[in-house]
Amino acid sequence: MAMSVAAPRKMFADSPFWKMKYRGGGLSDKKRGLDVGFDDNDDTDLTTELVQLGAQRTKNVLILISDTGGGHRASAEAIRDAFRLEFGDEYNIYVKDVWKEYTGWPLNSMESQYKFMVKHVQLWNVAFHSTSPKWIHSMYLAAIAAFYAKEVEAGLMEYKPDIIISVHPLMQHIPLWVLKWQGLHKKVVFVTVITDLNSCHPTWFHPGVNRCYCPSQEVAKRAALFGLEDSQIRVFGLPVRPSFARAVVSKDDLRVELEMDPDLPAVLLMGGGEGMGPVKKTAKALGESLFSQELGRPIGQLIIICGRNKSLVSTLESLEWKIPVKIRGFETQMQKWMGACDCIITKAGPGTIAEALIRGLPIILNDYIPGQEKGNVPYVVDNGAGVFTRNAKETARIVAEWFSTKTDELKQMAENAKKLAQPEAVFDIVRDINELSCQRGPLSSLPYEFTSSFTSII
Ligand code: UDP
Repeated sequence: MAMSVAAPRKMFADSPFWKMKYRGGGLSDKKRGLDVGFDDNDDTDLTTELVQLGAQRTKNVLILISDTGGGHRASAEAIRDAFRLEFGDEYNIYVKDVWKEYTGWPLNSMESQYKFMVKHVQLWNVAFHSTSPKWIHSMYLAAIAAFYAKEVEAGLMEYKPDIIISVHPLMQHIPLWVLKWQGLHKKVVFVTVITDLNSCHPTWFHPGVNRCYCPSQEVAKRAALFGLEDSQIRVFGLPVRPSFARAVVSKDDLRVELEMDPDLPAVLLMGGGEGMGPVKKTAKALGESLFSQELGRPIGQLIIICGRNKSLVSTLESLEWKIPVKIRGFETQMQKWMGACDCIITKAGPGTIAEALIRGLPIILNDYIPGQEKGNVPYVVDNGAGVFTRNAKETARIVAEWFSTKTDELKQMAENAKKLAQPEAVFDIVRDINELSCQRGPLSSLPYEFTSSFTSII
């Protein structure tokens, strides 16, 4: 079959591979074109040259996210930062919501749909469980993949990835199909990093991935049930930003920096990236329980991080407080706030839980999103790292006891939390991905211009 070949870009015009294409003419017979049409001597020489060409290139890593909650972005940023720390400029890292940038409804509006559904939590419950059977989500995602194939191609090719890392449950099937349709599944390393600690949606699991990084043994068992081989599964823990793993500043110094009371024990109250859950009710109850009527003074201080929930910030700011309170919006230095506090109250978000464990903070879980967060509750409670209650007054009572009569319990839970922590997980993950990529051999690191059928859109 004769294929027309586009004019070479300047930077590759003199490359051995390009010359080979014209000299041999055989390569254009195959899209990937790496296994045809050379005599033995040519092969040796050219392979050496290709090795050099591939070795010189900085590899591109595309991390696929959607801001449905704050956890996916936090994990993506953790992986990006760990790549930079471990491998410097060997890799270019792009953290992108390709669906939002390139496709149309319903892919480009996942964020707002998710926010709407988790506000009307029964709706989310139904959506989560009704799409769990494989035949339902596979059919749905295949239809979307077919409809948006060109757009997804364009989105992926913008970044010419050598490695694609999905940190989202809806970003396995579609990109893997598109890569396969384009014959790129052997060139591009595709891995999934699961960001739910326990109960997670089946769309996380796709047998076509090179690796599936599971944060816990429980998730690894589910991966095996959904058809992944042992060789595809690794269990390192949930990736948390290296600033947590490598934080060295003392609690006292952090309190000075954050202008907190230096002596009063501190509780951090939050509700994920969106400031969800019973934050206001709990804050009010803490405002009462952390003020001792007997002593006539506060026995604790309260930090409230509202994330992107701006209306929560203004509501809380309009209240009167008898104890020291700090009300913050979206914070980019979560490791500092956690490092300055003694315990945390949060919905059962996996990102916040994993970070709190690293900081050794006992956790009160005061809510969970049905489906993916439900299993996080026993993960914390059964391991003695915290308690679960949806009752705001009970939450406030527990914190007051931890700060007065039950300090030993607080200490014990802090120890248990530290035992569960996996601060090195993110580094283990990026090292493994690097190894995978190196195992691909030099030919896979050839630029897309030489190997892809996407030349029309490059
Ligand atoms: N987070 C943050 N700044 C904020 C609030 C939250 O960086 O002001 C981060 C938090 O540290 C965690 C993530 O957002 O890494 C929240 O993830 P989680 O899985 O707990 O909940 P989600 O928001 O995904 O429901």
